[in-house]
Amino acid sequence: VEVIGDGQVVTSVKALNKTTNEEIDIPATGFFVAIGHKPNTDIFKDFLELDQTGYIKNIPGTSKTNVAGVFVGGDAADHVYRQAVTAAGTGCMAALDAERYLASMD
Ligand SMILES: Cc1cc2nc3c(=O)[nH]c(=O)nc-3n(C[C@H](O)[C@H](O)[C@H](O)COP(=O)(O)OP(=O)(O)OC[C@H]3O[C@@H](n4cnc5c(N)ncnc54)[C@H](O)[C@@H]3O)c2cc1C
Repeated sequence: VEVIGDGQVVTSVKALNKTTNEEIDIPATGFFVAIGHKPNTDIFKDFLELDQTGYIKNIPGTSKTNVAGVFVGGDAADHVYRQAVTAAGTGCMAALDAERYLASMD
């Protein structure tokens, strides 16, 4: 809800328990954002094969998914590296695989 400080350093964090709606103050001397650990792939769960955490499964070494003509790149399929440069690389792989897929069709 709020990061509280004394004007110089963090002193506590106000948190909301979403189950009980109770607000609590947690004494703290630092605040670190830890986001991006669960991929935002729920919209694909009825169409593509995902792993237990929600990462889209690809055929190793390719950007191919379990559905022909659907390719994946970036963090949505990468639970190991999750970096901008690796996302760009696998995004490029997905673009090339998509282009080749389209070129192979009549
Ligand atoms: C806090 C933090 C710090 C990081 N620091 C670094 C760093 O220092 N160096 C580094 O290399 N990497 C860093 N990363 C990782 C890097 O940001 C990611 O690896 C990279 O952005 C992944 O790119 P992406 O295109 O796969 O996904 P994203 O950049 O997450 O792009 C996905 C896009 O899809 C959009 N989207 C989601 N759902 C939908 C929808 N339903 N419809 C349409 N659009 C949708 C999102 O809005 C977003 O724009 C950091 C990540 C975090 C969270």
